Amino acid sequence: MQTFLTSAAITQWAEAHRAAGRTVGLVPTMGFLHAGHVSLMTRLRAEVDALAVSIFVNPLQFAPGEDLAVYPRDPEGDAAKCAAAGVDALFVPEDFYPEDFSTSVGVSGLTAGLCGASRPTHFGGVTTVVARLFGVTRCDVACFGEKDFQQLMVIRRMVRDLALPVRIVPGPLVRDADGVALSSRNKYLSAAERERARSLHQALFAIRDAVSSGERSVARLLELGRGHIDCDRLDYLELVDSETLRPAERVDRPARALGAAFYGKTRLIDNVGVGPELSWT
Ligand code: AMP
Repeated sequence: MQTFLTSAAITQWAEAHRAAGRTVGLVPTMGFLHAGHVSLMTRLRAEVDALAVSIFVNPLQFAPGEDLAVYPRDPEGDAAKCAAAGVDALFVPEDFYPEDFSTSVGVSGLTAGLCGASRPTHFGGVTTVVARLFGVTRCDVACFGEKDFQQLMVIRRMVRDLALPVRIVPGPLVRDADGVALSSRNKYLSAAERERARSLHQALFAIRDAVSSGERSVARLLELGRGHIDCDRLDYLELVDSETLRPAERVDRPARALGAAFYGKTRLIDNVGVGPELSWT
């Protein structure tokens, strides 16, 4: 595995592969890698000739007062996990944005609700960094996790709208043994908070199971879910249409139950598919 610290160097690496007719895959991350990230690498490893992983804690997607300065880091552990997953290029940029960087990429509509409502500048930062990562790494394929379902759908829309030559592959959400969604931010949780954090996926699973048992009222489903959650502050619990991310009126189309909840200062998100499966094209 080679490590690249500059945008120019990874571009050169990618161009060499492309010139030789090899496909390039990218898994963008913010590091502090866990089995969820590794599952995306494993998924793409099977599909591309040359696999890159980026580790970049992107300041643009953090609002003032969020956890940018304390975001957990583990450069050595991350490199070891990437090497073990068969990654060819680890991109840890020191110069990611040019000094006079002046462009922002934004997707409207899909970013209005859910996480976009409580983090209004977040998705603009995500789409801007991902657009530049696609440019810098010249990737043919990129893999994003369903853990960040809204992000996945926003990036899919950006790629379609801008006709970017990148195929987006979704990766299933990976959970810990107790069902809690793996997240770099789980590191912030105290033992007691971690225990209570299980209620988030339990609420989502309860909604999913009630739909499977025939419940169709979104209001009743959300009430059921809220009854399960034990947190310090619920940001949102919603049932949305998987394609439009607008509140679902019925659950006979692919739908998604999503939640965001604070445990102490830590904000966790989770989601689960409900009803018919979303077909991915
Ligand atoms: P992050 O480092 O949090 O920005 O995440 C980088 C990528 O890993 C994103 O595409 C996430 O959706 C994905 N990811 C994070 N946690 C998980 C998980 N538990 N299961 C699957 N993918 C994940």
